[in-house]
Formats: sequence, C-alpha cells, structure tokens
Amino acid sequence: MKRDKIALFDLDDTLADYSGQLLNDLQLLASEYEPAPVLYSGIPYLEARCHVITSQIGWWLKLDKLKLGWDVLEAAKEIGYEISVLTKGPSRKFAAWAEKVEWCNRHLSDYIDGVTVTHDKGLVYGAVLVDDWPEYVLRWLEHRPRGVVVMPAHDYNTAFTHPNVVRYDGTNIDEVKTRMLARYQPAFGA
Ligand SMILES: [Mg+2]
Repeated sequence: MKRDKIALFDLDDTLADYSGQLLNDLQLLASEYEPAPVLYSGIPYLEARCHVITSQIGWWLKLDKLKLGWDVLEAAKEIGYEISVLTKGPSRKFAAWAEKVEWCNRHLSDYIDGVTVTHDKGLVYGAVLVDDWPEYVLRWLEHRPRGVVVMPAHDYNTAFTHPNVVRYDGTNIDEVKTRMLARYQPAFGA
C-alpha cells in the first residue's frame, strides 16, 4: 500500500504561540525604568529572564494556538497529508520535552499521527516542513531538493527567501495550498 505523504509541523511559533507568551511574561517582569523587552536581541539580562521563564514547570503547556500554523495545518489535512509534529527539544529542559508531547495530545490528537522531539530536525523525513526558523529550514532542506517548506511569517524571518520556501503571512493561503498540492500530486504541479 502506498503511504500518504508526510507534512511535518513545528510547534514554537508555528502551531504554538511561543513568542507571544514569552513576550507577555517578559513584560510582567520588566521594570518601568528599562526599555520594552525585545525577543532574540541577544541582551544578556533578557536572555537570562527568558531562560528562567521557559524553565518553569508547566510553562510550555499553557502556550496558545497560533493561527498562522493552524491555517496551514487545516490546508495540509484537506489535501490528504499525513501530519506529524517535528519540534526541537530545548537542551537541558527535559520537562519541556514531556510538556510539548502533552500539548500535542491536548490540541492535536485529531490531526497528527506522531510527534518527534529532536535535537536535529534534518534527520526526519517528510515531503513538506512547516517551520518559522530559517536555520532549521536550511538544515532540513540540505538533503531534500524536492522538499517544500511553508514558513509562518515573523519579524525575524522577513528577509528569508529560498526557492523551496513559501512564506505565509495570513493573506496567501491559496499560494500555500498550490505549493503543497504540487508536492503531494506532482502531476498536478507539472
Ligand atoms: Mg519554531
């Protein structure tokens, strides 16, 4: 029997609103005398606060769903893709690994056939990857010249372009569907 093609979905800032919750928690900790917190700035005291916030037991479980990723999820399911989650396990935060799997069980049990928590997304097979982070996308594409990537739009990936990647900003779902369908049924996309 021919297996359905697999679409891999990232969690943080794809299906789960990691940045939104983190920024919210940073704002709660900010003094009125310091500038508004900015994510991924590399500023040491902010990085340290992020580490403390995301090390709390239960933090990863309370992340909200992110609509950008869920739009793509619904489209992939409609096309017929087998859906699997592919998420990075934060190094040394082992409770987060379990909470990520539990988050999937709570929110995604009607959608997914499996969850992979890994240090290296490049090891995992799929026809499509949906992921917001350019470094992981490039790593995954290294050995997959026909792979299609859908990248949920965020400030930090605005400048990223690649022929295999379609960036989804909430306005171009038809383009996303066309690319995913062409990968699912190559004859249609030829
Ligand atoms: Mg991500």
